[in-house]
Amino acid sequence: MRRRAEGVEWRGDPGYFIRIDPASCDGCGDCLRVCLGSCFTLGAGKAEVKDLGSCMECAACWYACERGAIILSWPRGGTGFATEYG
Ligand code: SF4
Ligand code: SF4
Repeated sequence: MRRRAEGVEWRGDPGYFIRIDPASCDGCGDCLRVCLGSCFTLGAGKAEVKDLGSCMECAACWYACERGAIILSWPRGGTGFATEYG
């Protein structure tokens, strides 16, 4: 079961705003280790986006991937991670 913190919500369908370039990914797993949302999985020696429904848009995966395999954009306005604390 996914935990929800007070004052935090995920709005609408953000789409797949984070993608992985399989040609660049070497399966090191660093993105899995830094992701607090458990958004990735490893399959066939490559990382895959599992579920962005708990992504906090922190970009830690993008920073951690030394091979530049993570293609990061942002959810459409009004969707995705939101907090009432700004
Ligand atoms: S950090 Fe980059 S290279 Fe490593 S598994 Fe994740 S996407 Fe692949
Ligand atoms: S932006 Fe943050 S929460 Fe979202 S997939 Fe990357 S590391 Fe995980």
